[in-house]
Parts: sequence; C-alpha cells; structure tokens
Amino acid sequence: MRTADRVDYAELNEQEKSQILTLQQSILESMLQDNSPLQIINNLCRLEEQLLPNSVSSVMLYDSARKKLDVLAAPSIPPEARKQFSDLQPGPGSGSCGNVIYQQTPIFVSNTLADSRWLDLRHLAQAFNLMACWSMPIRGEGGRIVGTFALSSFEARAPSTFHRKLLEIGASIVGIVLDRREQIESRRLYSHIFDSSGESIVITDRSQVILSVNPTFTRMFGYPAEEVIGRPPGFLKSGRHGASYYQKMWTELHQNGYWQDEIWNRRMDGTIHPYLLGISLVRDADGAIVHYVGIYSDIGRYKQAQAQIEYLAYHDSLTQLPNRLLVRDRAELAILTARDNATNLALLMIDIDHFKNINDSLGHRTGDQLILEISHRLQRCLRDTDTLSRHGGDEFLIVLPLMPDNDPITQLLDNIMDSMAAPFQLGDSEITASLSIGVAVYPNDGQDFDTLLKAADIAMYRAKDSGRNAWRFYTEQMNDDAQNRITLCNGLRQALSHQQFHLHYQPQINLTDGMIVGAEALLRWQHPVLGNIPPNRFIPVAEDNGIIIQIGEWVLNEACRQLVQWQHAGLPRFRMAVNLSAIQFTRSDLVASVKRALEQSGLDAELLELELTESILMHNSEQILATVKQLKALGVQLSIDDFGTGYSSLSYLKRFNVDKLKIDQSFVYDMVNNTSDTAIVRAIIQMAKGLNLTTIAEGVEHAEQLSLLLDEQCDEAQGYHIARPLPPDEFLAWCKRQPCCGT
Ligand code: C2E
Ligand code: MG
Ligand code: MG
Repeated sequence: MRTADRVDYAELNEQEKSQILTLQQSILESMLQDNSPLQIINNLCRLEEQLLPNSVSSVMLYDSARKKLDVLAAPSIPPEARKQFSDLQPGPGSGSCGNVIYQQTPIFVSNTLADSRWLDLRHLAQAFNLMACWSMPIRGEGGRIVGTFALSSFEARAPSTFHRKLLEIGASIVGIVLDRREQIESRRLYSHIFDSSGESIVITDRSQVILSVNPTFTRMFGYPAEEVIGRPPGFLKSGRHGASYYQKMWTELHQNGYWQDEIWNRRMDGTIHPYLLGISLVRDADGAIVHYVGIYSDIGRYKQAQAQIEYLAYHDSLTQLPNRLLVRDRAELAILTARDNATNLALLMIDIDHFKNINDSLGHRTGDQLILEISHRLQRCLRDTDTLSRHGGDEFLIVLPLMPDNDPITQLLDNIMDSMAAPFQLGDSEITASLSIGVAVYPNDGQDFDTLLKAADIAMYRAKDSGRNAWRFYTEQMNDDAQNRITLCNGLRQALSHQQFHLHYQPQINLTDGMIVGAEALLRWQHPVLGNIPPNRFIPVAEDNGIIIQIGEWVLNEACRQLVQWQHAGLPRFRMAVNLSAIQFTRSDLVASVKRALEQSGLDAELLELELTESILMHNSEQILATVKQLKALGVQLSIDDFGTGYSSLSYLKRFNVDKLKIDQSFVYDMVNNTSDTAIVRAIIQMAKGLNLTTIAEGVEHAEQLSLLLDEQCDEAQGYHIARPLPPDEFLAWCKRQPCCGT
C-alpha cells in the first residue's frame, strides 16, 4: 500500500483508536497461541465484522499461474456462496476484489448495483445482498499483490476513515500471516528435503566449520552427526587429490558460486570411495558468504556399473580376454611405443585347425570349452606385457611388444605348438587340437595395425594351406600370392567361356617294349594378360570357388574327344588318363559326367583312365565308395596319382579296387642316388604286384632312371625323358615318330 493513501491514526477518534488497538491485540494473541494461519485469518475476519455491523469480511488469494482469485477465508459467507465467488478472473467488471488485482489499487464500491465495476457479479450482489464492497490489496514479498481483504456491507455506503483503517489493518495482518505461513512451509519443506534426501548434505559456516549434516551423510560416510559438527570437513579427504586440486576447487567455487566434480573421499571405516560432490555458496543480503552447502552423491555403484559395461564392451564373454576393440587399442599403443623405441613388435593371428568339425560333431558347448582351454594354454606361454585376445569364433590374436628380433618370436611359436601337444579332456571326449599361426612383424610387414593384421591373416592362411599345425612369417610374396589368388579367381570365371583352356598330352610307355600305352591329359590355361598359368597355381583356386567342377567336365569331354579323333587318325590303341579333383567326387554327379563324356565321344570305357589322389580315397566315406563302384561298373580304369605321398594304406587299395599306382615323381627323381628312395620305389612295385596292380613311374627324366625302373620291374613310365606334355598336333607328330606307328 502506498503510504500516501494510508489513514493516519490522528484521523480516528478515541473510541475508534481503542477498537483498533483491541483488534490488533486479539490478533497478536491468536498468533502467539500458535493457531494455524487460516484460524488466525478467520479470527481476524470475525473481529472486523464485529467492528462493522451488517457486513461480511473476506480474504481472496490471487493465483498468478492461473490468473484467478479464490476465496481463502470468509467465515460468515456460506460455503456455496464462497464457491460462486471463487475462480474469479480479474477484469473491469469483476467486482471490487477482481478490480484490486486488475487495477492494482484499493477499490471502494459504495453501490454494487450501480457501479460498473460490479457489472459481471451483479447477480451475486443481489443474491447475497452485498450492497457495498471495499477491497484492499494484500501485499507479499517485494510489495507484490498476493490477494485482497474485503469488507462487504449489506447497505450501500462509502467507507469512513475508520473503515478504511480497518481494511488497512486487515490487509497488512493477512499479509504478515501469509508470509509467515510461507516461511513455515518452506522451512518444513527444506528440513524434509534435508532429512530424507538420498544425497549427503553438509552445511558449514563461512569458516567451513560443519553446522549440520543430514542422516544420509551418516549412512554414507559412517560418522554420526555429533562427531562431525564443529569440525572442518577435511577429515573426509582421501589423499588422492593434491593441493592444486583443492586450490582449483576453491577458486572456481568463489568465482562461480558453485563447483562440482567426481571426488574420492574417505569413510569412517577408512575405505575410499568415489562421490559426485557439488558445493555451493550461500550469501547474505549484502553478498557476504554465510554458508557452504556440500552435496555428495554416492557414485560407487554407478561407477561399478559403468566399469562393468566398459568391461563387457571390451572383453570376450567366454574367455574374458580382450576383444577386437581392445586389442586394436593395445596394439596401436604398442606400435607407438615400438616406433619411439625403434624396436620390433609382432602380431600373431591364430586359428584352431578344423574347429568347425569339432563344433559340428561334438556340439557348441564342447567347442566353447575347447576355445577356453586353448586360451588358457596360450596365456601360459605369454609374458605379462603380451596381449592375448579372442579375435573371432576360433581365432586369437596376440600382440607381442618389444621384440628385438625374430628369435624370441620363433621360440614362442615353438612353445605354443608344444603347448598343444597334450590332448584336451573335454567332458567325456579327449580331443587333440592344433593351431595355424600367421606372424606379422612391425615395422617390416606394416606400419599400422590394419596392415599388420592383414599380413598376419595372409600368413595364417598360408600356414593352413601348408597342411595346418604350422606357423608362417608373413612375406611380401604371400601378399602377392593373395593378390594373385584374387586375380586368378576372377579370371577363372571367364576362362571357360573365352576358351582359354587347352589340354597338353604326355605319352606313357610300356617299359619292356617302349610302346605307347597311354597319354595323360594335363590342363593348360593361357591367360590373356598373365600368360601361361601352371595348373598347380590355378587348380587350388578353382577348387576353392567350385569352378573346378565345370572345368573338370570340360577336360573329360575334350580328352575323350581327342583320343577318339586320334584313333580315327590311325594311332595305335592307348588309354587317355584324366586327373580328377576331390571336389568333383564330393560335389558333382561325377558318374553322370563320365558317362556323358564316353557317350558323346564314342570312346571305349576301358580306354579312359581316371587319376584319383590318395586324399580322395582317404575320406573313405560311403559316398566315395559308391561313386568309385559305379565308375568301375562303367568299365573305366582307376589309377592313384602321386602314390606314396599320402597316407597309403593297403586296405583302401583293395577296397576301392583300383587298377594302377602312379609312383610319385619325388621318389623317382632321386632313386639313382638315394638308396632309400630306391627302396621305396621297390616296395611300391612289389606291393602292387602282390595286389595285381599295374605300376607307372612319373617324372622320369634320365635314361638311368628308366633302366633302374626296368630292373625293379616297374610296368610303365612317363616323363620328360620320354616326352614332355605336348599340344595335340605335336603329340600326334611324336606318336608318328615312334617305331610302332612307322613314320
Ligand atoms: P600330375 O597329375 O602328377 O601331373 C604330372 C605333372 O608332372 C605335370 O605337371 C607334368 O607336366 C609334370 N611332369 C611330367 N614329366 C615330368 C618330368 O619328367 N619331370 C618333372 N619335373 N615334371 C614332370 P603339370 O602339368 O604342371 O600339372 C601339375 C598337376 O596339376 C598335375 O599333377 C595334376 O595334379 C594337376 N592337373 C593337371 N591337369 C589337371 C586336370 O585336368 N584336372 C585336375 N583336377 N588336375 C590337373
Ligand atoms: Mg596326374
Ligand atoms: Mg602325379
């Protein structure tokens, strides 16, 4: 209320003065009796009504959020009427109280039925017989109008000075009571928050002496309140943060009024834990610091959960080893260290041999167990500074930092191989496992992790190709090979349709009379860019991508057709030998292809000889046996190529009913100088005779070999000494030069 409008006591008569004094005293007593705010206000209303007969007194509160006035107290107005006055929106016709808010000034309406300020509420004025209504603003903190105090008279009249004083006193008392109510409520709220907060709250005075702590503080740190009140909070320090940390904290706190960070603090039991601590300053009206309030959140569990999530993201769940992500990190760090120290570093890519078979036949649980056991054995071979990681299904990657040269790497590789020697006992099964390992060394094989990884991977595949259970260091050549393999693989798809394949034929002769008994068809690939590619290079690739099936079929047809053509040209009767791949046996209808080739060419089945390798028969499966039987039923001959290099077993020779053994050229090569090779060749020939099989020696390059083979009673021979593999026209010419053909 503006002081200028205030009624001066001097304007009141003695009786009025004493009435006002009594009113104020009664209210004061009511406040001291610890009545509730509403009780005090109701009391006030009744007292004022006594001083203004024929009137009712009311208090309305303004809800600034809803922009509406509601009746707080009106003890003499019946509840249903109170309801009708509530939810009042301030505006020009909203009555005296509505206009107090609308115009922000006291409103004295002496005739509600005539005054336009009561336009909207006239029906209520009539209904409740409110003829005059004087309303005074109630002010709260900062002079803001928070409500109205009104006296409504049943007679139309203007307020006297005394009445105005009554209004002033009413409004100011309600203001005080409401203020007090707010304070009490907020104090109650704050103490509730303080007591029930899940965070520890510490309040200190300006010199950082603890004034109070909440119950959570005691729970969190173990100290009862009485032990810490009166002490500075330094006893919580863990010793993990240096003086500069605290210095920075105070500077920031005083600069910004607030500071927050993760901090390690010591509990009463001496243990150290992480907390999130926020400290804020409390200043008085003049800006001087009066309190510090610290709030601690226990982030131990959150930290633990965070650590757990991080662990899961960077470790393999089966072996608990670092995973791809973490090993990359470690390797990259190790590469930097190696660069700084000008030393080497090695990456070992490890793959479990035939793991798929183990998984398929013994189940995934056994497979998992094997991976785990292998990881333990590998770990035992390593130094603390090495990192073993699980890189994928059955792959491990090892980072070996600080390797001066390749010697310790080789030593470790041998240790790893040895560690696999003992069988693994997995449940009821005893399993032997071996590893193929590729090694890439920084800086020679690559300067960064990805390059090294690729190199180690290529070397690992090379170890696998070499028959597994082996390790290989990466070489440039391997990379070229890997690249070439890709080029070959792509080229092979076109080679057939672009007619880049040809067959060369190598004569086979009878050793006793030198007569031609056969020809071996040998595949040649004339690549448009790479030139002549030998079969040993492209056949493994064709086997990998399956194209060998179509190629094999083409070879069969072409070889049969060629022999028939030569027969028609008058060459003597001899056999055509065709090489078969294992893939043709397992993944195609070989019998149908052979049958078709014979039919289409019109070749006698007994003139076709199929060369199998020992590895095909080694599978010894029912399917292979059935195929071999059907081939034999067609009437074709079967020979075993490169005999002696595989796991020869007499039983399968009998079982598969083969006709001929081709003694591998490695034995023939050295048989003149090396007595053990001679012994092997002799043994093969003797065994073959016992089983009634024909023998042919491959790779005969010299006359001495020829005569030695004759002495050992070998039946047939093939080799450069007799003739190289020849294109068809040259083969024809060669045949014609032979005595039997008569040139
Ligand atoms: P293979 O069946 O053992 O063929 C004999 C290999 O020895 C041929 O090599 C031949 O040229 C070579 N050779 C012959 N006489 C001599 C000799 O006196 N000294 C030496 N050092 N080598 C001699 P090529 O033609 O390079 O074929 C290599 C292998 O490729 C063959 O070995 C065979 O396993 C495979 N191959 C060739 N053609 C085919 C085919 O059409 N299908 C399949 N699946 N494999 C084939
Ligand atoms: Mg062969
Ligand atoms: Mg051979």
